[in-house]
Amino acid sequence: MSSESKFGDYGGQFVPEALMPAIEELTDAYERYVIDNEDGFMDEFRRRLADFGGRPLPLQRADQLSARYDTEVYLKREDLLHGGAHKLNNALGQVLLAKYMGKERIIAETGAGQHGTATAMAAAHLDMPCEIYMGETDIARQRPNVFRMRINDAEVNPVTTGRGTLKEAISETMRDWATTVETTHYVIGSIVGPAPFPAMVRDFQSVISEEAREQIQEQTGGLPDAVLACAGGGSNTMGAFHHFVPDDDVDLYAVEAGGSSLSVDEEEGVAPNSASLSTGDEGVLHGARTKLLQDSDGQIMESHSVSAGLDYAGVGPELAHLVDEGRVTPVNVDDDTALEAFHRLSQDEGIIPALETAHAFGYLERVAGPATDDRAAEPRDEHHDELGDTVIVNVSGRGDKDLETVIEETQKRDLDIAPDMSIFNEIGGGI
Ligand SMILES: *Cc1c(COP(=O)(O)O)cnc(C)c1O
Repeated sequence: MSSESKFGDYGGQFVPEALMPAIEELTDAYERYVIDNEDGFMDEFRRRLADFGGRPLPLQRADQLSARYDTEVYLKREDLLHGGAHKLNNALGQVLLAKYMGKERIIAETGAGQHGTATAMAAAHLDMPCEIYMGETDIARQRPNVFRMRINDAEVNPVTTGRGTLKEAISETMRDWATTVETTHYVIGSIVGPAPFPAMVRDFQSVISEEAREQIQEQTGGLPDAVLACAGGGSNTMGAFHHFVPDDDVDLYAVEAGGSSLSVDEEEGVAPNSASLSTGDEGVLHGARTKLLQDSDGQIMESHSVSAGLDYAGVGPELAHLVDEGRVTPVNVDDDTALEAFHRLSQDEGIIPALETAHAFGYLERVAGPATDDRAAEPRDEHHDELGDTVIVNVSGRGDKDLETVIEETQKRDLDIAPDMSIFNEIGGGI
């Protein structure tokens, strides 16, 4: 592990002066406790990941998908982590670190509510008071996660500025932190933000690839040809990639949300996707230089994805750098393909994935799926042959939280694969 603050030209610490003491204190704590294991911090972190979080988690061969794609498909089951997504790896690490630093209070922001929920759980587990900032719009559309946070006794502070979504919630949390740094730690939820957050969050998430790299060798006797993970901010992505980065023969694919289209409406300031790695330009957002969705004047654009957890205009600086270096291949999958993949994994493997996760499976279908009328007409993706014989897909989370969205979005479309839901009409419940 190392405390790099820059990844090529990306990363850095673009924060107001008032936050610099907090950033320096955190950098020092990260180096001592996480990198040097002072006071046995990492041992305690590992123990709690095991007995509270449920690690190690299985690497499971997907029998039906392996047959469908004529490729050995292995699933890294982060959906089985306590809370239902990979997010707890990081939230638990940071809340524990805050304790070692002598902090008395935890704050965090959340968009879809997954990070807020993981932070609230970790804070309850470690007996720390916790406040979560969340945009008003997001509170309205992510009610189950708001309930979970409240039930774990976290305060949820509604943010009413702007569009009431993640971007405003982040600004509000930064504002809180600037005036409370002595007592408070801000738990950032992905490999984004000013250094040391991107490297630190990656280190906490890298347990994913540490386990998966050993497990695949035990099960197949070798390394995989490719690892696939969906990318929002990029924390499950870098977690799944980290220990494979030095293995040059292992291809790494970051699957972004292609939304409804890759084209952009500059006048409206809207990108109908969240594909910052594939289509973004360099700029500064939330404390770091990275690839962003922005217009020609450098204004950050609104992003879109059917999956709330991928709906972010930026991406972690390390991932942006690995893409520039050619080590990570950015690809994207649109809303329709992700929804189909959601149903396929549910029906074929008995695993209901998060909509974020479904994007990674959508890519598999697109490059390795059987020819269809549509697909036969198009040249197959150039990566088809390169995907190889053994592939690991990171199942970043489970889809319980997405069921309402999936039913609504499925009904809007004519998807052959969707199950018939008319039973709900017959029993009069409606959906
Ligand atoms: C939050 C979330 C993501 C996206 O965040 P990353 O930092 O890119 O990993 C992906 N999958 C699930 C299940 C999530 O909850």
